[in-house]
Amino acid sequence: MLVECVQSSYETGSKGCPYGAPNEPTAADYSRGKSMGDGISVLSVGAHRKDAIIHSGGTLAKHVNRGDRVCVLSVTHGVRTHHHRVQDELVKNPNTVVDMDALMAEIEAELDAAAAELGITDVRCFRYDDAVVTEDKEIIRDIADVICDFRPDVVITHWPQDGHAAHGYVGQMTRLAVETAAAVQTDGVHESHYIKALYYHIPIVDATVFDNLTPKPVTTLVDITDVIQQKYRAMNHFRHQYYGGEDPFNRAEIEILDGIFGLAGKVPYVEPFIPHKPAVFDHLPVSKYDMGHTAGTIEEGLRYSGQMLLEP
Ligand SMILES: [Zn+2]
Repeated sequence: MLVECVQSSYETGSKGCPYGAPNEPTAADYSRGKSMGDGISVLSVGAHRKDAIIHSGGTLAKHVNRGDRVCVLSVTHGVRTHHHRVQDELVKNPNTVVDMDALMAEIEAELDAAAAELGITDVRCFRYDDAVVTEDKEIIRDIADVICDFRPDVVITHWPQDGHAAHGYVGQMTRLAVETAAAVQTDGVHESHYIKALYYHIPIVDATVFDNLTPKPVTTLVDITDVIQQKYRAMNHFRHQYYGGEDPFNRAEIEILDGIFGLAGKVPYVEPFIPHKPAVFDHLPVSKYDMGHTAGTIEEGLRYSGQMLLEP
């Protein structure tokens, strides 16, 4: 079960789900594996430091809150393409001395702080250069090593055909790393590990022609309404990209990105995902949200899902 219904009422001025009782999966739904009561583990792999947080941070917080193990892995240091404050400084003063190690450490500290807002303490950062990101055997092997070490049930990463090339390549490399981790390991250090599910989050902002040529059949929405303030605070740590402070960008981005699919899901905010493979059930699954959508009036549903909860 990836989602839980928020209990408080929107009359109180925050959150609140007007829908009916949940239809929890039965033990039989998971009889061929461990039950969901055992907890699961989730690894989110991003190309740049903020990617796992912006695309899956709410979902990760939900898993932390239900006692699951969560790890974030970031592949590139991001200084060359994402340190916007330094990029602007170089425009104003081309003679600025760039201390790469200090800047890498600065962004990594921001990710640590962002993850902490979500209750995540296992944060792993590779320092691959972000100037040119392409498929690379060493990167695939390193991601596979993290999979073998952390041993996640679920891996989340970028849509492999993402029009943002670095995102797409990291999505592809993570998909390949999942297969690499499942292969026989002979390094004397790692044991093979099969994950249970691979999910892709999807791009919205980078609407390039490549994005438009690859349909993204979203099937899974995780309701993050009850952790949206945590995600907002987490994103505000990424000051190298002008998040935080008086800048309104973070609020607009979350309201738009998480809000637009939230409208489709009839809740204020969701993170959308696409599973790599179809899941198997004993019967046709119906979400507790869908079961409850007729419990209230249409007006109540619109008032609930139309909320924008992030303060200017
Ligand atoms: Zn990115």
